Amino acid sequence: MKKNDEIILSITDYTAEGSGVGKYEGMAVFVPLTAVGDTAKVKILKVKKTYAFGKLMEITEKSNCRTENDCSAFSRCGGCVFRHISYEAELKAKEIKVYETVKRIGGVDLKPQPVMYDKEIRYRNKAQYPVNKDGRVGFYATHSHRVIPCEDCLLQPEVFSLLTRETEKWIRKYNISIYNEEEHKGLLRHIFIRQGEATKEIMLALVINGESLPHAKELISSLKAVAGENLKSVQININTADTNVIMGDKCVTLYGEDYISDILCGVKIRLSALSFYQVNRTMAEKLYEKAAQYGDIHGKTVLDLYCGAGTIGLSLANKAKKVIGVEIIPEAIEDAKFNAGENDIQNAEFYCLDATEFGEKAAKEGMKADVVILDPPRKGLTEELISTVAEKLNPQRVVYVSCDVGTLARDIKIFGEKGYELKEYTPADLFPRTAHVETVAVMSKAGV
Ligand code: SAH
Repeated sequence: MKKNDEIILSITDYTAEGSGVGKYEGMAVFVPLTAVGDTAKVKILKVKKTYAFGKLMEITEKSNCRTENDCSAFSRCGGCVFRHISYEAELKAKEIKVYETVKRIGGVDLKPQPVMYDKEIRYRNKAQYPVNKDGRVGFYATHSHRVIPCEDCLLQPEVFSLLTRETEKWIRKYNISIYNEEEHKGLLRHIFIRQGEATKEIMLALVINGESLPHAKELISSLKAVAGENLKSVQININTADTNVIMGDKCVTLYGEDYISDILCGVKIRLSALSFYQVNRTMAEKLYEKAAQYGDIHGKTVLDLYCGAGTIGLSLANKAKKVIGVEIIPEAIEDAKFNAGENDIQNAEFYCLDATEFGEKAAKEGMKADVVILDPPRKGLTEELISTVAEKLNPQRVVYVSCDVGTLARDIKIFGEKGYELKEYTPADLFPRTAHVETVAVMSKAGV
C-alpha cells in the first residue's frame, strides 16, 4: 500500500478519535466519517509501519447504522465525529471501545454495565467560541485554529446561538477588533457562555486581549433583549498573554453578578467563569449517583480526590458520615467550601493540595477512609497515589471516575497488582456525538 492508492475497504471498528477503521493487507486503515458496516472506496493519504490514514471517496455499500447528518458544520468542525451514525450505534461503539480498552490495557476481561445516556442534543451548559477575522463565531477545525463558522451548534442550548448572533452583529456595527494569534494583536479572542441547566441563569464573558471593552452598554442591552431575565452576568475575561490557553486569570463584571448558580443532585452550586463544572449536568447527576452507589457510601467516611468545586462529595454528603475533598486549584477549593456553607453541609472538609501529597500525608497521620473516590484529569493517577491508597489507606472500595478510558485501564491494572480487583464498571455518555466517553468503575480488595 502506498500514498494515493485507491482501495476498497470494509469498516469494522472505530478509533478512540471516532474514525472508522478497516483492515487491508494486515494494516489498519483509519478513515474519518465512515461507519462500521460501510464498504467504501478510500484514497490512502499517509502510510506508517502498521497503519495508514485514508480519505473517504465513495461509499460502495452503506452501513445500516448511517443517518442523515443534521449539522452544516459537521466534518469540518472539530467537535462532533458521530453525526453520520444513529445515536444507538454511537452508544454501542462507545461501550465496545471501553470494554476493549479495559481488556487490552487493564488486563481484565469483564463486560461493562450498559452505557448510561440521556439526550443527545443541546446537552452542553458551556461553550467557548473563537471568533475569526471577519467577526464570525464558530468552532476550531480538528487539530487547527481555523474557525469554522456555526450558526446554531446542536450541542448547545438554543439561547447560546441567539447570544452569539447578537454579538456578531455588535462586532460588525461597532467594528470591534478581533484578536490575531500570529501577530498577538487585536481585542476580542473568545466568547464564553455558561448556563445553569436547572436555574436557566446565563453568564457571558468576552475574553479580550485588553483591559476594557468599547461599546459594552450597547452589547449588554442587545444580549438582554434576547436572553431576558435569564441573563445574570456579563463579564470581560482579561487574557493579554501570547498563549493558546483560552481564559485569563482575571474577570471583571460589566453587568449583573460575578457568579451564576446551578442545582446538581439537589445541591446548589456557585459557578464563576473559571470554575470547573461538568458540561453535561443531567449526565453528571447520573454519573455521581452511580459513583455513590458503587461506593456504598451510607454512613461511611469518603475521601473525594480531585474534587474540583466539591460537586461529587457534596452530592453524597447527606448519606455519608463524612466527606473529605482534595483539589490542587485554590479557587476551586474556595468554591467547594462556599458551596458546602450555602447548602448547610457540615460534614464536609476541603483541602487544597496535590492528591498524591495529600495521600502520603493522610497515610502518615493514620487517616482511615472507607471509600476513596478518584476523578483525575485525562492523565490519570500517579503510581505513588495508587500505592498509598491500596497499601496504606486501605479503603473498602475505590471508585474511579474517568474521562480517559486508556489511563483508567492502565490504573486498573496497577490497582490489580496491589490487590484491588475491578468489580464493575459503567460507561456514561456525557459527550454525545463526540468521541469522548466517561467511565465509572469500582474496585475492592480481592476476595471482598
Ligand atoms: N470531581 C470534580 C472535578 C474533576 S476534574 C467534578 O466532577 O466536577 C479533575 C480535577 O482535578 C480538576 O478540578 C483539577 O484541577 C484537579 N487536579 C488536577 N491535578 C491535580 C492534582 N495533582 N492534585 C489534585 N487535584 C488535581
